[in-house]
Amino acid sequence: MNIANLLSWYFRHSSRRYARFNDDLGAARLPEPSGDRQYLMYLHIPFCEVLCPFCSFHRVEFRENKATQYFRALRREIELVGDAGFTFSELYVGGGTPTVMPEELIATINLVRERHPVTSISVETNPDDLENEKVLDLHNSGVNRLSVGVQSFDDRLLKEMQRYDKYGSSEQIRRRLKAAHGHFDTLNVDMIFNFPHQTEASLGTDLRILTDEIGADQVSFYPLMSADATRKAMNKEIGIVSYTHERTYYEIIAAHMLAAGYTRSSAWCFSRGTSMVDEYIAEREEYLGLGSGAFSYLAGALYASTFSINHYLSLIESGMSGIVRRSTLSSREQMRYYLLMQLFGGTLDLDAAEERFDHRFYRDLRPELTALRMIRAARKSGPTLRLTERGHYLWVIMMREFFSGVNNFREQMRHNISGENVLLSTSRQSKP
Ligand code: SF4
Repeated sequence: MNIANLLSWYFRHSSRRYARFNDDLGAARLPEPSGDRQYLMYLHIPFCEVLCPFCSFHRVEFRENKATQYFRALRREIELVGDAGFTFSELYVGGGTPTVMPEELIATINLVRERHPVTSISVETNPDDLENEKVLDLHNSGVNRLSVGVQSFDDRLLKEMQRYDKYGSSEQIRRRLKAAHGHFDTLNVDMIFNFPHQTEASLGTDLRILTDEIGADQVSFYPLMSADATRKAMNKEIGIVSYTHERTYYEIIAAHMLAAGYTRSSAWCFSRGTSMVDEYIAEREEYLGLGSGAFSYLAGALYASTFSINHYLSLIESGMSGIVRRSTLSSREQMRYYLLMQLFGGTLDLDAAEERFDHRFYRDLRPELTALRMIRAARKSGPTLRLTERGHYLWVIMMREFFSGVNNFREQMRHNISGENVLLSTSRQSKP
């Protein structure tokens, strides 16, 4: 077994620990804020107009009535956490498709800005929404970073992903991205690599479009991930996932992006200029997630909000937050989580880590830190631990497995509520 396979296996098993969420909190309970700390707020908007077969995020079919109720409840939850003493300096809105109802989104962002000293706001969207003036005007509501889910510019792959009809052909997406460029401080493009039918030539074309034609401020290249429950649909629609070419594809991406003047913001995100970071979990140790299916990490525990939209609406209606599950990490697990997330961003300040963990970081994580140096994944330079070129790809594997563990938890939670309504219908996965 080579190092890559060994790490995949190890992380597939160890990341299950983080996503165990054994503590069923019964009545939803919001954790206490810590002193005068300013947090990052994550808002989850789970509605999508089509349900892509490869996607394991918490997403449901868009229904205007339901989504209107949901946005209203989300604004109540924002007020509730503000009343509980939380203060936020950053906002990240993800989904699903946050821009599915732009007026509702703007009202929600405005509420956060009225109540908190938010200085950076990031919103995810899909290419077809770039045709909507209200989405392009989001910068007037303080949105600095718009992240567009493109996945590929290859029409064949877009058709396999069942995104071609709804989100547009390669040519349409390129035109929309060019029109959106310059509206925001950071225009990020989300891409996926290692599709079963992707070729090096197709990946090379994607890269040239991104850097030479569009000139994206930032590109996030996620490795294709799957969850146990979506594997069947994925195998049918886009082919059987293999990791044989993953490393080569990653090396092609990194070489192209770095040569084009981008720097790595995380193992799979490349930015230029003063782009905002892509992965808030790498930048911010603690964050509070609001909305159905959102995750939070606070004071050494991961929290999950209910995945049932109906349950979420009724919890909020009763004046409670949507949080229902907790996974409490031991002190060593917290350090390993910290190591994983910090090195996802490329570097770890060892002095800061020592201080953060009462001078136990070196001592307790000695095996992990030694192993990283032995497999030449990281190099120490003064107080900084830095990923090597080899380490960047190994971190892609670790994060892929970490997120796959989270995806499996999402699928379990969604399975528990599969009888709730037609919103979760998987039949739409085969023909969105
Ligand atoms: S990938 Fe598709 S299903 Fe998943 S969140 Fe984006 S639009 Fe929705």
